[in-house]
Amino acid sequence: MTFDALLNSAAQRLQLAGSPSPRVDAEVLMEFAAGRSRTWLYTWGDSECPTWEHARFDALVAARAQGQPVAYLTGEREFWGLPLATSPTTLIPRPDTETLVEAALARAGAPTGRLLDLGTGTGAIALAFASERPQWHVVGADIRPEAVALAAHNARTLVITNATFLVSDWFASLAAAPNGDAFDIIVSNPPYIAADDPHLGQGDVRFEPRSALVAEADGMADLLHLITQAKAYLTPGGWLALEHGYQQAPNVRQALEKAGYRSVESVEDMGGHERVTLGHLE
Ligand code: GLN
Repeated sequence: MTFDALLNSAAQRLQLAGSPSPRVDAEVLMEFAAGRSRTWLYTWGDSECPTWEHARFDALVAARAQGQPVAYLTGEREFWGLPLATSPTTLIPRPDTETLVEAALARAGAPTGRLLDLGTGTGAIALAFASERPQWHVVGADIRPEAVALAAHNARTLVITNATFLVSDWFASLAAAPNGDAFDIIVSNPPYIAADDPHLGQGDVRFEPRSALVAEADGMADLLHLITQAKAYLTPGGWLALEHGYQQAPNVRQALEKAGYRSVESVEDMGGHERVTLGHLE
């Protein structure tokens, strides 16, 4: 069969299986199965697909039809233009999270500084920021050793040398200021989904680690923990920027204000939802 014919039938099959992006899924899986770029596939789509690549593609499409996320099947997802290795031990980087990177960059006017990313997962936020601010030092922390290994691997592959990663349960393994290392900016995309949210039973999130998605207290527990703890690890004037659910912005603003943060505001993501809220210390 030709590449085109295989892509068409796979896109149809994935559509029936309920994928929200059947054609793109098929193309990305074929790129991976055949080791060919999308441009190559568009140009040479009427050539015969060799048997081995055909078999590999069929197996990938079958797994995708069962609901497996494309990023776990190919082991890669692009974030902020950086190709990142992904694994089922961490959340798949999402385009919405680029809002958090933009908010942090907008507050990183000084030539040098230190940024901390808590719950770094693949390292997406830490590495995106580090790539834009080579004079800053970036620390990424995660409770899962597998995530820390993955983030460090991504830093090495991308030759981003101003980011380091460590295992820590939120702030537990960091030394508080003034004796420890204070940060000018602390960012996090913590778990913030309520345990009974029906969205947990749909799409890619079914295959992602629950510990990266779900938080107690209607999804607010980790956000509130970070808001109260971060103050001891920020420099004077330092910023805390948090990603949260699309209905959580008023609660997060209120918690930041109550904890004494200033200039508290929320930023919308590309879908027009308040997705990131931030404030700074005096
Ligand atoms: N935004 C993600 C989702 O809705 C959740 C990410 C998170 O909990 N940090 O699937």
